[in-house]
Amino acid sequence: MTDRYVYDLSEGSAEMKPLLGGKGAGVAEMKRLGVPVPDGFTVTTEACVDTMTRKGEWPEDLESQVWDGLKRLEERTGRVLGDDKKPLLVSVRSGAVISMPGMMDTILNLGISDDTVEAIAKEAGNERFAWDCYRRFIQMYGEVVEGIDAHIYEDALTALKEKKGVESDTDLSADDLKGLVDTFKKLSNEQLGGNWTTDPREQLMRAVDAVFRSWLNPRAFVYRKANKIPDDLGTAVNVMQMVFGNRGDTSATGVCFTRNPATGEKELYGEFLVNAQGEDVVAGIRTPRSLAEMEEVLPEAYHDLIDTMKKMESHYRDMQDMEFTVENGKLYLLQTRNGKRTAAAALKVARDLVDEGVITKEEALMRIEPAQLDQLLHEAIDPDHSEQPVAEGLPASPGAAVGEAVFDADVAAERGAKGEKVVLIRFETTPDDIHGVIVSQGVLTAHGGMTSHAAVVARGMGKPCVAGARGIKIDAKAATLTIGDTVIHEGDMITLDGSTGEVFASGLKLIPPQINADFQEVLSWADEIRRLGVEANADNATDAAKARELGAEGIGLCRTEHMFFGADRLPAMHEMITADTPEERQAAVDKILPMQQDDFEGIFTAMKGLPVTVRLLDPPLHEFLPNLVEQSLKVQKMENQGADAGELDKERRLLAQVKKLHEQNPMLGTRGCRLGMLYPEIPDMQARAIIRAVLSVLKKEGETVQIHIMIPLVFTPIELETHRRIVQQAIDEEFESAGTKVDVKIGTMIELPRAALVADKIAEVADFFSFGTNDLTQTTLGISRDDAENGFLTEYLRTKVLKDNPFASIDQEGVGQLVAGAVEKGRKTNPELSVGVCGEHGGDPDSIHFFNKTGLDYVSCSPFRVPIARFAAAQAVI
Ligand code: PEP
Ligand code: MG
Repeated sequence: MTDRYVYDLSEGSAEMKPLLGGKGAGVAEMKRLGVPVPDGFTVTTEACVDTMTRKGEWPEDLESQVWDGLKRLEERTGRVLGDDKKPLLVSVRSGAVISMPGMMDTILNLGISDDTVEAIAKEAGNERFAWDCYRRFIQMYGEVVEGIDAHIYEDALTALKEKKGVESDTDLSADDLKGLVDTFKKLSNEQLGGNWTTDPREQLMRAVDAVFRSWLNPRAFVYRKANKIPDDLGTAVNVMQMVFGNRGDTSATGVCFTRNPATGEKELYGEFLVNAQGEDVVAGIRTPRSLAEMEEVLPEAYHDLIDTMKKMESHYRDMQDMEFTVENGKLYLLQTRNGKRTAAAALKVARDLVDEGVITKEEALMRIEPAQLDQLLHEAIDPDHSEQPVAEGLPASPGAAVGEAVFDADVAAERGAKGEKVVLIRFETTPDDIHGVIVSQGVLTAHGGMTSHAAVVARGMGKPCVAGARGIKIDAKAATLTIGDTVIHEGDMITLDGSTGEVFASGLKLIPPQINADFQEVLSWADEIRRLGVEANADNATDAAKARELGAEGIGLCRTEHMFFGADRLPAMHEMITADTPEERQAAVDKILPMQQDDFEGIFTAMKGLPVTVRLLDPPLHEFLPNLVEQSLKVQKMENQGADAGELDKERRLLAQVKKLHEQNPMLGTRGCRLGMLYPEIPDMQARAIIRAVLSVLKKEGETVQIHIMIPLVFTPIELETHRRIVQQAIDEEFESAGTKVDVKIGTMIELPRAALVADKIAEVADFFSFGTNDLTQTTLGISRDDAENGFLTEYLRTKVLKDNPFASIDQEGVGQLVAGAVEKGRKTNPELSVGVCGEHGGDPDSIHFFNKTGLDYVSCSPFRVPIARFAAAQAVI
């Protein structure tokens, strides 16, 4: 039996989305529910996948199934493709399983030709309409199917408008358009060396194939990568009878949302254009009108639309994003899908739907994409400024962006990849600009509405976007933006406020994000449900306070190295490293102790009542010393200049130490606990500073932290035992001299494969484990965490040798196996052992799922990821 590749609309339903794609399944479901939709059929995603696996060749039987589907459609509609009396016109539209707005291709008005155009004009009683459809068809078909450069058509259209002295396409007459069709045909034929196809049946097959191919176009790849959509899903193709929004003043086309996708408010939201076709709205070619105005222009269709919106939202129990067309006053729905929304809107909609009794808290939590919450954690413009905006556009995607003006997506991509802050300014963005949008701070367009590509894409990514800013002139070639008298050149600073639509011609100061009541409420549901604790990585009082404000339940990693790098501490560090005797070394260390204590007091005050895990010094000693070449030159210079003997001696000793400590592979050298093994004064001093700070905060505040001391980079229990002894002795002495004591836990990081493999032995001397998955990834995969992204890793990701960046999302198969094994082994010999993770993965939603499954007790991540981790931890148990 052959595979079934084609389904009539009436055979589909929402459940068939994997096979029919989002659009196909959505339209079929609407038909099932009695919503007016145009008739048609869907070619399945499987047909596309099978075509891809055959390197572009259609599977046997696909063509005949499409012919059969067409035949059935012709019978149902009483029309025939290419017929000169009752011609059928169809749209051929892509429809992926996971929506990828605008990334793939669509062809409208297929079936129009020299043979059919007159019949269409006659039937519509509107010649201009028929020729408008024809010229649109040639343009779309030429671009999408034949790969003809869009400019060829656009230039011809612009030239015609100039010749006729009109501004808008709608001002062109039927005769003008007829002439334009001739020009377009000529141009197309020229481009194809005389091979322009005019047979609608052949065009249909080629159009279906072009939509398959559009799954593989570069912008679709970029979009899938950015949104983590697998590349092997393929797209369905929907062939549907055309309904016309460009049939005159009682026809229209539009897009609507059942709630406001920017704020989540339950209010009318959408745009429409009279006498226009679908692409005109989304592509931002004409600036559309607000949906509210439709009540006056097309009252009946408007009321039907409002009813349908309600019906579809309650059917899907979620906010819907719908496309519609009104033909001669009659409403047709072309698509419905769960609407993409900002994080703020996602929270509000979730909260409202729970309040309205439509969904449960668990369902609400599952609908929120934790990574999307980043948007709310976005910066805003500091209100304390006196700048006047130079322009205003639509507030298309919230958040503020500051950066240097850039007018080309390639330039943005290149500079953004280098870490430079750029704002992409375009007349309108097209899906081809996606690579530039991804790395920009924000996007500004002169044209297009809230549903234009720029807006949709930016919202999904949580990038600030101001769209359709009026009165701005963009000259992409000259790389300038002119607003009245103000001219912004490439490289000038610019600020956008995607929440208000304002544009400023300077770099304004931004303030940190705010967390509103919806966020707090939904987070509280997450907290009720999650099992994993969520702590933060913070190593100063400000970050600690921020982490606590964002809901961190403690500090899971306080890195102490920055406390040694301060200008006031480096001389003492040099003294310590170059000391000849233990006494000299102790004297140097003693100078650092009060400074360390001071740092800790700040952090502990901010975190009182909660656990704080302080990790002892980790980086290699050479990082505290000058560079070998520089120090050699310095000594040479001093020698040449006959410098003071004492000073020279000091610098020579430093040089000798630099030489002694020089390592080819410092990351695998004298760092972590290995430092303490060589210089026990360091852990001793750190333990004393910690305990003094703990007791001082207790005295001052009446409350202190639950202190955990963590030893890094251990691979044998002996290292931990040695450190325990040093640290415990210092602790006991400090308690004794203070006459008070508190509970102290001493544990270790598991960040080397050997440590994971002998975790049972290490656990015998540890109160806790914290997985340092950054180093564990580095050492398990043998990939340098500092160089990886500059080198082959990027290529590995592109060619799918690796699915995800293992430094961002944990390699579950490899590193994950070590983690799971170590948890099991550790708990076997020490059932009291508490286990967490403090590598970057602690804030990554996918990794959090894994850590939850593996039975960890908590994750620790950077303060701004704490809310995301709280969500992800809740989703992991639902
Ligand atoms: C780790 O290695 O995962 C870790 C948290 O330590 P650091 O990043 O400081 O090496
Ligand atoms: Mg580490």
